[in-house]
Amino acid sequence: MKTIDDLGVAGRRVFVRADLNVPLDSGTITDDGRIRAAVPTIGRLAEAGARVIVASHLGRPKGAPDPRFSLAPVAGRLGELLGREVAFATDTVGESAKSTVGALADGQVAVLENLRFNAGETSKDDAERGAFADSLAALADVYVGDGFGAVHRRHASVYDLPARLPHAAGGLIATEVGVLRKLTDDVERPYAVVLGGAKVSDKLGVIDHLLERADRILVGGGMAYTFLKAQGHEIGASLLQEDQIPAVQGYLKRAEERGVEFVLPVDVVAAAGFPDLSTKAPSEPVTVAADAIPSGLMGLDIGPRSQELYAAKLADAATVFWNGPMGVFEHPDYAEGTRAVAQALIDSPAFTVVGGGDSAAAVRILGFDEEAFGHISTGGGASLEYLEGKTLPGLAALED
Ligand code: ADP
Ligand code: MG
Repeated sequence: MKTIDDLGVAGRRVFVRADLNVPLDSGTITDDGRIRAAVPTIGRLAEAGARVIVASHLGRPKGAPDPRFSLAPVAGRLGELLGREVAFATDTVGESAKSTVGALADGQVAVLENLRFNAGETSKDDAERGAFADSLAALADVYVGDGFGAVHRRHASVYDLPARLPHAAGGLIATEVGVLRKLTDDVERPYAVVLGGAKVSDKLGVIDHLLERADRILVGGGMAYTFLKAQGHEIGASLLQEDQIPAVQGYLKRAEERGVEFVLPVDVVAAAGFPDLSTKAPSEPVTVAADAIPSGLMGLDIGPRSQELYAAKLADAATVFWNGPMGVFEHPDYAEGTRAVAQALIDSPAFTVVGGGDSAAAVRILGFDEEAFGHISTGGGASLEYLEGKTLPGLAALED
C-alpha cells in the first residue's frame, strides 16, 4: 500500500475518505473517538499544503438527505480538534460541494455532507455506484483511504473511487492494519480473545477463524446465553438464538479437540426485564449461578465470580483481542462486567486490542484512559472481518 508520502499532496485537492460515523443524541456527539482518530491524517495533509476534502457516512440514511444524519456537528467538532477552520458543504457532489472545494486554498479543510445522502454510495448496482464515484472523483486530484471502520463495505467512496484517482492509505488505516497483523500472522502466545456483545450470529465467522488461532476464548454478553443453553443449562428469559445452538455445539466440540480453552460465565447479573436505557432508572439486579438462571430472569451482565475468572485468564496472556461488551453496559447496574474486563486488559502485560464500536465506546464512556490499551480499533465490523480472513474491499482497492 502506498502512503501519503508517496502521493505528493501539496497544492492538490485530496479526497480523504474518513470514518466520522459517531453516535449522536439529537445532534450532540456522545463519543468523538472516531473524529479524534481521523485528526492526525487530516492535520498532516493540511500541514503539507493539500486542499483537504473530508468525506464520511454517518448512520443509515436511506440514500436521500435526512437532517438527523447531517455531518454538520461533526465538521464543527473536527475544526475544534484540528485547531483550524473547517468549511462545510451542505451537499456531497452538488453545487455546495463544488463551490466549497473550489474555494479551498492550500492547507485548508472542508467536510462534505453525508455520503449516504446519495443512493449511489451503497448501491449494489455497479453502474449506479460507479456514476456516484465519478462525481466524487471530479472534486479531487488524489484519494486517501483512511476510513478503517468502512473498509469492509463495497461502497462507492471506499471501493470504486480509489480506482479512479491516484491513491494511498492514510495513517489510521496503516496503523489498524499493522495491529491486525499482530493478531493474525505475528501473534505472540498465549493469545486470549474475549467476545461479547449482543448476538452470536454476528460473531460466528470470527469464532470459526479464532478456533484455529487462539489459545483461549472467553465469552460474555448476550451471546453467552446461547452457549450456556447449548451446554444444556437453563437460561430463563436471557437472549437466545435458538437456531445457532448446533453451530455453537460444534464450536465447543472443536475447541475441545484442538485444546482451545473456552471460558463461559459462572455467574450472571440478571433482572426480570430489560433496563430502561434512556432514563437509566435503577432496576433490581440479582446475581445467580450461570448454570441455573431462574425462569423469568434475563441475564444482563457477567457476575463478580466470572469477572475474577476472566481477569485471571487474561493476566498471563501475551496478546488479547476484545470485541463486544460483557453486559448491557449502557445501564450502570450492568456495566461492572465490561468494566472488569477493561481493567483486566489494562492490568495484563499483554499487547491488548479493543475492537468493536460499542466496546470502544464502552471503554471511553466508563472513563478508562484509552492510552492504557495497546490499541483501540475504530472499526468493529472491519476488524472482525479482517480476523475472519476475508478480503476487505476498501483495503484491496488501496493495494495496487
Ligand atoms: P460491538 O459493537 O463492540 O461489536 P455489539 O454491537 O456486538 O458490540 O454488542 C453491543 C451490545 O450488546 C450493547 O448495546 C449491549 O447492551 C448488548 N448486550 C451486551 N450484553 C447483553 C445481554 N446480556 N443481553 C442483551 N444485550 C446485551
Ligand atoms: Mg455494535
